Amino acid sequence: MEKDILVVCALEEGSLTNPSIEAIGKGRELANDLKENVLALICGKDLNKAAKEAIGYGADKVIKVEDPRLSNYTTLPYTKVLDKVIDEFKPFGVLIPATQNGRDLGGRISARRSIGLVADCIEVKVLKEERDLTWTRPTFDGQLFSDIRITSSPKIGTIGPSTFKMPEFDPDRKGEIIEYSSPVTNEDIMIEILGFIKKHNSDPEVSSASIIVAGGLGLKEPKNIKIIKDLAEVMGAAVSGSKPLADQLWIPQDSFVGMSGLKVSPRLYIAIGISGAAQHIQGMRDSGMIVAINNDPNAAIFKEAHYCIVGDLFEIVPQLTEKIKELKAQ
Ligand SMILES: Cc1cc2nc3c(=O)[nH]c(=O)nc-3n(C[C@H](O)[C@H](O)[C@H](O)COP(=O)(O)OP(=O)(O)OC[C@H]3O[C@@H](n4cnc5c(N)ncnc54)[C@H](O)[C@@H]3O)c2cc1C
Repeated sequence: MEKDILVVCALEEGSLTNPSIEAIGKGRELANDLKENVLALICGKDLNKAAKEAIGYGADKVIKVEDPRLSNYTTLPYTKVLDKVIDEFKPFGVLIPATQNGRDLGGRISARRSIGLVADCIEVKVLKEERDLTWTRPTFDGQLFSDIRITSSPKIGTIGPSTFKMPEFDPDRKGEIIEYSSPVTNEDIMIEILGFIKKHNSDPEVSSASIIVAGGLGLKEPKNIKIIKDLAEVMGAAVSGSKPLADQLWIPQDSFVGMSGLKVSPRLYIAIGISGAAQHIQGMRDSGMIVAINNDPNAAIFKEAHYCIVGDLFEIVPQLTEKIKELKAQ
């Protein structure tokens, strides 16, 4: 019978990434409810530090696959490892952080094993009476949340980064480290990562900015991004926006805010022409002060905003920019 919750972890500079730690925390909760163990899968080289972290954050056993060819994520080798680990350890549930790599791996393993997968979950719960899991995810563009059950096995889902709480680290927690021999052969390596190029971006980093000016589809056309850029410039703010803007490359693809994007908590978040879909709100609701500008008085963003400006952004924002310029010149 399948048992245990397997958490697929990712590493950065030898340590577990935050989404992996959050997934271990969620895995711990599920395993407690099921009275099972949490298994953490880590791959790459020099894994001792990450293995201890996984135990300290809540794993009972760490499946450690030491293989330098797994130091960087690539689809096929990681799929092969996960496939073999599932065969051998027969987990009941598998949690994968919904990062770009995690989403890639989740899709691939689901296809490889012909099993169901629920993507971008915001909640996972144990149904005790039926020994099953329910996975909750946004659907219909975030208008609804659906509870999904998986009929195939293992039950596998990707879970959104920053969706679950980081568990406390307990340095005294004990666990077992299993040295698992890598099933990867040189024939499996079709892509070699030669290095990483750090992104050069002269704009303030969105994730650490203390002021963010964010635009939405209310801007209507890509050229109108200038309106929010002008405001951001006079305020020394970072420019961001909703996911559709990033999808259409009006703003850099990795700079949007929300459930599948950046989680931000600036001192001031100005949402311009953003409706306030649940997925967007998830990424910015911890902001110190939220100002929303929208011409629809019933826009959902106003439920989150501290200051609500109902009106046409094309009139309001340029006036605001000019006013701030004037005040700064005094
Ligand atoms: C799995 C999944 C994950 C998702 N993840 C994210 C995510 O991480 N982040 C995210 O942002 N979205 C995400 N989305 C998309 C999300 O559901 C919404 O579709 C999106 O946030 C809407 O973007 P918007 O507010 O810019 O556009 P819209 O919903 O079209 O809103 C535009 C707003 O502009 C206002 N407006 C129009 N003209 C003017 C004007 N002249 N002046 C003032 N206001 C005006 C309108 O009243 C409206 O409220 C996700 C969706 C799914 C299904």
